[in-house]
Amino acid sequence: MPELNHEIVEKYERQIFDLRQLIEISKGLNSTLEYNMLIESILLTCMGQMQLIKAGIFLKKGIDEDAYVLHRNYKGFDIEHDTEYEILGASVIVDLFEKHDRCWSVEEINSEITDKSACLDCLEKIDPNLIVPLKSRGKMNGIIILGDRINKLDFSEEEKLYLLDIASLAGIAIENAYLYELATTDMMTKLKIHHFFQRLLIEEREKAKKRKKPLVLMMIDIDHFKEFNDVHGHLCGDLVLKNVANVIKHNCRQIDIAARYGGEEMAIILPKTEIDSGIIAAERLRRGIEGAIVEHNGNKLSVQVSIGLTQLRDEDLTNNDLIERADRALYMSKENGRNRISYIL
Ligand code: GH3
Ligand code: MG
Ligand code: MG
Repeated sequence: MPELNHEIVEKYERQIFDLRQLIEISKGLNSTLEYNMLIESILLTCMGQMQLIKAGIFLKKGIDEDAYVLHRNYKGFDIEHDTEYEILGASVIVDLFEKHDRCWSVEEINSEITDKSACLDCLEKIDPNLIVPLKSRGKMNGIIILGDRINKLDFSEEEKLYLLDIASLAGIAIENAYLYELATTDMMTKLKIHHFFQRLLIEEREKAKKRKKPLVLMMIDIDHFKEFNDVHGHLCGDLVLKNVANVIKHNCRQIDIAARYGGEEMAIILPKTEIDSGIIAAERLRRGIEGAIVEHNGNKLSVQVSIGLTQLRDEDLTNNDLIERADRALYMSKENGRNRISYIL
């Protein structure tokens, strides 16, 4: 029966092709631990494989938060920018996703949930054609939403199974990126930890030298920080630290690397930055921190910082060469009256 053989061969050829694709996808997803690149890679993989014009992903809102929010890298969907699309971690919908390994349409979810108050609104508003939960060791860690396709076809059962294979690879990749983030982040300030900063500084120095780009290092120290602890207690000191870190994060570009150097000292690596722009950024930061009043037990507290900057020199051979100069500049700021910036070229 040659025809049947032909069909079987074709079926196996297709399966081999799909498996090869999955190996390539797995290699791609496992090659990055950087969140934004990973998300982009997951979305583009789904879009390419399923010929989609709309795709998005819900991920944990923050490193220590339970709720999921729509990641800003979504493609094609009509999203209202002032609406927060959020799915609670402890919700009927997450329980449902964790209980079953399958893809869902909004209608299918609706028919399974009896408690209609259960946060389906946000998915209904986006109106995706297919919803694919991401999991790692049975726990949900994200939700892919897929919209219109170029060919306008519905997803076949085979395609849904293939999407679940991609989702299981993506779920593991997200878990790895999350653990990496957790291991390299200072949980109080949500800035990078010291040893990770040292590693990134080596990488950024090498990149800057190779590409002949400037680089600035900024060291920031909170003025009279001990007084916040001594007068208002350590919880107040912690609050001040978090507040300063928040202002730093909001003032950094995506390529900047902000770290907690130690105690109440912070460091920022500014790649592709001339000293002039570094000085402008430092002054903006100093003013921003001064303007961000901290409220503690009814007290309104003003926080000030001293900043030291330096730029990478050709003769710098180690991180310490650069750090030592930024530190000296910082102490110039302290000695000259604090709440100011100084630099050493
Ligand atoms: P200066 O203006 O010269 O920088 O004075 P300072 O008081 O800021 O500097 P000093 O080094 O004397 O004090 C830093 C204090 O920061 C000492 C330490 O107990 C406190 N500290 C370090 N880490 C933390 C933290 O995570 N939380 C709190 N609350 N305090 C911390
Ligand atoms: Mg200090
Ligand atoms: Mg200090």
